Amino acid sequence: CGKQEAKPAKVLKVGSEAAFAPFEFQDESTKEYVGFDIDLIKAIGKQMGAEVQIQNMGFDGLIPGLEANSIDLAISGMTITEERAKKVSFSKPYYKSGLTMVVKSDNTSIKSFKDLEGKNIAVQLGTTGADEAKKVKDAQIREFNSAPEAFLELKAGGVDAVVNDKPVNEYYIAKAGGKDAKMVGEPLTAEDYGIAASAKNKELIAQVDKALEELKKNGEYEKIYVKWFGK
Ligand code: GLN
Repeated sequence: CGKQEAKPAKVLKVGSEAAFAPFEFQDESTKEYVGFDIDLIKAIGKQMGAEVQIQNMGFDGLIPGLEANSIDLAISGMTITEERAKKVSFSKPYYKSGLTMVVKSDNTSIKSFKDLEGKNIAVQLGTTGADEAKKVKDAQIREFNSAPEAFLELKAGGVDAVVNDKPVNEYYIAKAGGKDAKMVGEPLTAEDYGIAASAKNKELIAQVDKALEELKKNGEYEKIYVKWFGK
């Protein structure tokens, strides 16, 4: 029979750990995934003529998901590291970040990373923040599945500090319930976020890079940046 099926639009399955505002989080009323990364990957998909489907998953499941081909791409405030680059291919950097600390507003003893010695620190499992916190002498590290859970533990008094990405810490203090917390310390690291694909999928990453470049040229990247970070 000569029945013609409509050609399906290209679909990109994109993994993200959607509890990392302002990069990816769930809008409380619409339940939609929103944030800088979400807007950026949608714009990249549009450039590529593909429909983006966001799959919310644990941060430590993203790289295994790419390796198993259950997702095509991951965008999740993910820092480009040498370790990770052995397993996946990364796009060009799309956001400059770094680690800082969050403590209770009334804490006067922790002012720099050195002051974390012997303290209780909350981090998110599988992150660069967890790696850095583990280097602190005599510190007790508590690993949580998400940054909001680490912040809750700080609020509850279970830990002295959270080590996490600076823009996420700032957003938490300004907008997401962290009124009784403050950020301290100069950024401990300089990190670049990248979009990841399976190591075998260099072709896809090349397309992502091309789209990203186009969005930087046509002002779309800038618009998305200003929407989430101002200026
Ligand atoms: N940028 C950090 C990392 O890549 C944290 C990412 C996250 O928690 N989403 O490890």
